[in-house]
Amino acid sequence: MSDESQPFMFDRDAETMPRGNLTALQLRRLKKSLAHAYLKVPHVRRKFEAAGVAPDTLGSLADIAHFPFTEKADLRDTYPFGLFAVPREEVLRLHASSGTTGKPTVVGYTRADLDLWSDLMARTLACAGARPGDIVHNAYGYGLFTGGLGAHYGAERLRCTVVPMSGGGTERQVMLMRDFGAAVLCATPSYALNIAEVAAGMGVDIAGLPLRYGAFGAEPWSEPMRRDLEARLGIKAVDIYGLSEILGPGVAAECHVAQSGLHGWEDHFLFEIVDPETLTPLPMGDVGELVITTLTKEALPMVRYRTRDITRLSDEPCACGRTHVRIMRVTGRNDDMLIIRGVNVYPSQIEAALVGFAGLGPHYQIVLTRDGPLDAMTVEVERTGDAPGDAAACARLAGNVQHHLKSVIGVTCGVVVKAPGKVPRSQGKAVRVKDERAN
Ligand SMILES: [Zn+2]
Repeated sequence: MSDESQPFMFDRDAETMPRGNLTALQLRRLKKSLAHAYLKVPHVRRKFEAAGVAPDTLGSLADIAHFPFTEKADLRDTYPFGLFAVPREEVLRLHASSGTTGKPTVVGYTRADLDLWSDLMARTLACAGARPGDIVHNAYGYGLFTGGLGAHYGAERLRCTVVPMSGGGTERQVMLMRDFGAAVLCATPSYALNIAEVAAGMGVDIAGLPLRYGAFGAEPWSEPMRRDLEARLGIKAVDIYGLSEILGPGVAAECHVAQSGLHGWEDHFLFEIVDPETLTPLPMGDVGELVITTLTKEALPMVRYRTRDITRLSDEPCACGRTHVRIMRVTGRNDDMLIIRGVNVYPSQIEAALVGFAGLGPHYQIVLTRDGPLDAMTVEVERTGDAPGDAAACARLAGNVQHHLKSVIGVTCGVVVKAPGKVPRSQGKAVRVKDERAN
């Protein structure tokens, strides 16, 4: 039954659950999940004992603050399967994310975990605007990365028609989006931009296609980039969030109704914000590091996982009717933060300053070099095809961009204006920072 005043939801009962019921459900599930991890994972038991806690010391949700955090190092130290809480034979699927150094982070799923993931990804895609029967063009990478298969099974669970493209082969992607009549595009925002640009180059009016929504995630992106993607693709661009350590995509999603903060699925996850320095929990609305505890995962229960993502939560009622707390747009990951001459800079801040700047395309790359004892940052940007390309004009544009960036991020950086097409394009996850500092 379609009622325009009632946005479609995959699981309306769960998604609109009154706060009191949601809290009671969370407490019940949290107790069970803590006991599961404590009994089945020696590493977790040792950490609980060192902190002087046990599952039965938890009386309320706030008591979670006494429990130890889990960090990426815990996964590394127990590589590959040491945090699994079920016999390996019950794990039906493995995924892994490439670490910047050494071994990947390995995660596993039981049958029930895979079902949960499909359900939550179906919920996420519906929240982002997908409907049963839609053609979903899935350009997230397939393989060990959770993005491709996560979106794939979620879209099937929602009873959509999935086109399992994975990344790359962009001209072919455009052709099939046009020929099949995709309604929803799943991709990283940087790759969606690449698709839009390639379509324009092919003479395909992508904004005129039936495409209605983009479910974009797996990298931080800015509000100006959203507006740019919406204009280029003729869609509503919606932010989705997840991380493999917790589930993969499907942890939280913006609703296409409000496009303001991502509903975190609280019946399956407990969200906290902590001070990234002191690690003490912060009140609702304060900015800090997002910490997530899984409530129903079997193979890999996570207790207070430090995401490194800096954000805030909002419990303001949402226009869509969902009651789940909203994770406001992630400013950046702590690990991605650059410190340039003592000033903290996130690549997404630079993106927000550049997108829409007159004479510039939306592509950029940050290059870090050493300038004596200090780190120096150069931002490589690209002029648009209709901007003059002579040396004097480029120098003038670079000067204007440098001035603008200084006013936004508070630090002077070099700016190099490149010819159209000369900044590398994203094939999946964008490489925003090129580090050329010799160690
Ligand atoms: Zn909403």
